[in-house]
Amino acid sequence: MLIVITGPSGCGKSTLANLMLTELENVEFSVSYTTRKKRDAEIEGKDYFFVSKETFERMIQKEELAEWAVVHGCYYGTPKNTLERDSVDRDLLLDIDVQGAEQIREKHEGAVFVFILPPVFPELRERLEKRGQDSLPIIQKRLDTAREEIQRYREFDYVVINDELSKAAEELKSVILGQRCRREIREKEILPIMRSFAEGD
Ligand code: ADP
Ligand code: 5GP
Repeated sequence: MLIVITGPSGCGKSTLANLMLTELENVEFSVSYTTRKKRDAEIEGKDYFFVSKETFERMIQKEELAEWAVVHGCYYGTPKNTLERDSVDRDLLLDIDVQGAEQIREKHEGAVFVFILPPVFPELRERLEKRGQDSLPIIQKRLDTAREEIQRYREFDYVVINDELSKAAEELKSVILGQRCRREIREKEILPIMRSFAEGD
């Protein structure tokens, strides 16, 4: 199953994604390609694949990306080969923006879309400032984009409000676990149960 999480920069998507990876089994994070500069705390290949503009544009030309967008002035995209690993036994978690979510929605039936909201606007600013990874002009650009992005929350199946982190993590976990109980997702597990009934004692 594809689980797409989207929300303004600083709302806590990476934090929540990391918690899902440690607290749930069979979840893989989809590592995106980006032309943004690597932050000190980030690890190449774990947080992103950091590439040049030329490399990214070559990937677009070769149609190697399942979706891509320009976000805050940089390219970001999801490689197609990652999405091929999506299966009923393993969930893929995508942290992508509203434009990317729109592209995935068009192509991948059954994907689940979750919008993450901060509790209030000033808290978003505070989180971006406290994260200490972006310059003030970049923070301002991200806050300006946030005002536009949040208008699109209605396009999403679920909304998680990341006020208290543990509560938001529980909510996101509940969404993922709930989706895993969907009948069509469970068919593979149901089949042997049904067969055992047919076989009798
Ligand atoms: P995003 O991936 O959406 O840009 P991050 O996960 O990097 O956001 O979170 C932005 C900052 O806010 C980080 O410093 C993170 O530790 C902090 N943060 C995340 N969730 C919460 C929360 N519920 N309460 C307070 N701070 C939070
Ligand atoms: P950041 O620079 O803070 O890591 O991410 C900035 C924005 O880019 C966030 O909204 C994040 O969800 C989005 N993003 C990250 N990876 C991708 C991707 O592969 N595709 C798209 N469309 N957006 C992405």
